[in-house]
Amino acid sequence: MSLVGLPDVVILDVEDVPGAALRVHVELTRSPQGCPTCGVIAHVEDRRRVELVDLSMGGRPMRLVWVRRRFRCPESSCPSGSWTEDDPRIASKRLMMTDRSGRWITEQVGRCARSVSEVARELGCDWHTVNDAVVAYGGALVDHPDRFGVVEALGLDEVLMVRRGPWHRQEFSTLLVDVGRGQLLDVVPGRSSTEPMVWLAKKGKPWCDQVRFATLDLSGPYRKVFTLMTPGAIQVADPFHLIKLANSKLDECRRRVQNKTLGHRGHKADPLYRCRRLLTKAEERLDVKGERN
Ligand SMILES: [Zn+2]
Repeated sequence: MSLVGLPDVVILDVEDVPGAALRVHVELTRSPQGCPTCGVIAHVEDRRRVELVDLSMGGRPMRLVWVRRRFRCPESSCPSGSWTEDDPRIASKRLMMTDRSGRWITEQVGRCARSVSEVARELGCDWHTVNDAVVAYGGALVDHPDRFGVVEALGLDEVLMVRRGPWHRQEFSTLLVDVGRGQLLDVVPGRSSTEPMVWLAKKGKPWCDQVRFATLDLSGPYRKVFTLMTPGAIQVADPFHLIKLANSKLDECRRRVQNKTLGHRGHKADPLYRCRRLLTKAEERLDVKGERN
């Protein structure tokens, strides 16, 4: 039925109450059904309604009321008993939304980075309904073995994940990034070499051997990960950390010279102290006066 855009369904009713979601009642046209055990034509025992969140239409929330038939095998000796018809093209059994809206939601949250609550508002439904769908559809995508493909440039970087407890103890995580595509592959706990090594070991040697470039900050643990797990890859220090290190060395040197020449820490009027910001500023951010200095 093209109006609903769903396969093999017939529209039974449309409930159009102003101010409420538009409710479209549908039933599967597929019939008759044979018993899955003995093959005898089954009887329709009763019908159950399940209300599913559907894609909104022109900004108006939609509900698909799926009238699901319950069948019973007429053979008294058959162990099948009764069963409810099912169609994953309409909806997965455990979710309270249509399959197409589940896919759309996952794309909105996963690819377009919209928040769960924003999408829930648009569909006129509960936060949990949307989140359950993201977890179910997104989880399957995350677990898919082909998700990573070939990664030629792999990056490791630490990130402060959370501050925990009354002392706000910092807990770090390590990001594994496909640097070529600019795509986050995974997040593992801690910033030691252990977890990234376990992760790479799980991917296997052939996968690790495809990595040609390894980018890292200048930390020892990440260097160890790449040296041991991707020995063929060229290790590249990422520019941010490199410049940060160069700047801190320059600063160290400035303070040392200051102390040596004037015998005290930098004061407001000391030229070396006054130019401390100028020394570490990127060239493209300098004005004419700065360049002359
Ligand atoms: Zn049967």
